[in-house]
Amino acid sequence: MTETTVERGGGRVTVDDKAMINCRADVNQLLPLKYHWAWEKYLAACNNHWMPTEVSMQADIALWHAPGGLTDDERRMLKRNLGFFAASESLVANNIVLAVYRHLTNPECRQYLLRQAFEEAVHTHTFQYICASLGLNEGELFNMYREVPSITDKAAWALNYTRHLDDPEFRTGTPERDQAFLRDLVAFYVVFEGMWFYTGFAQILSLGRRNKMVGIAEQYQYILRDESIHLNFGIDAINQIKIENPHLWGPEFQAEVRSMLAEACELEIAYGRDTMPQGFLGLNADLCEQYLHFIANRRCAQLGLSPVFAESENPFGWMSEAMDLKKEKNFFETRVIEYQSGGSLSWD
Ligand code: FE
Ligand code: MN
Repeated sequence: MTETTVERGGGRVTVDDKAMINCRADVNQLLPLKYHWAWEKYLAACNNHWMPTEVSMQADIALWHAPGGLTDDERRMLKRNLGFFAASESLVANNIVLAVYRHLTNPECRQYLLRQAFEEAVHTHTFQYICASLGLNEGELFNMYREVPSITDKAAWALNYTRHLDDPEFRTGTPERDQAFLRDLVAFYVVFEGMWFYTGFAQILSLGRRNKMVGIAEQYQYILRDESIHLNFGIDAINQIKIENPHLWGPEFQAEVRSMLAEACELEIAYGRDTMPQGFLGLNADLCEQYLHFIANRRCAQLGLSPVFAESENPFGWMSEAMDLKKEKNFFETRVIEYQSGGSLSWD
């Protein structure tokens, strides 16, 4: 049955009829739930609701305009970081709506995707709000992904994996095309949101730890909390597709995924050197590279792959604390809106 016709008197869906991809059961029957992990992430995401405009930007505006408030290096890093995220949130949102949503044929996963799509809109809103608050050049910020090579290279790498999937003619259903879909999930959930975003968060949160741009740092903490659920949804989705379609996850494909992660690290290292040519207190390109290796190996473990890099320590142990907003709010001393649970971060 297609999604645009009603099959009158069609059978009721049972749990056994449900599947992640290429499912023939009615996608409009949420219950009975099969993938409780997807439903739980939907609930956790709803409990984490926030809006960027609830965070005061006053201290940031004062510091941004104060002579010598930020060093030239800090300004360069901040602007490029904002430029990377401003476009990336839209790229991720478009990939969800135009590619992932169509090909994940399960209603509880789609319920989560609807929530995630809204969160990506909130994240894009955050960059609009920061841009307006600080009086940044809109064209410069939102075109950086087309004008600054280290950002362009990352965007182009990811877009390559969604390009044919958002073609209306694209359908899953052969091993080749199912693997193309898996590659898209790896590129966007594991690499984009699960690796590149994390080094970006570390850059801004390390400024926040030194009491600089505390409003933006607080917004990034909320984004980080959302993104950690996006990442873990992506990992669970990929792992579930593997369980249901073991033929898609052979040694060759596993090697390909590991090389995707290694390639993504190269692009991120170039971005790190470009955004932080000198480095500053507690943060530089070398530490970011080490952090990235740690993160990449962690993603490999989550996907059941052997590590890509030699074992490395996490140089930013404080990042896990930054995800616990309750701990951090005394530190930043900013106004924190506590939505219902705030916790929900036991994964990762
Ligand atoms: Fe996002
Ligand atoms: Mn996201």
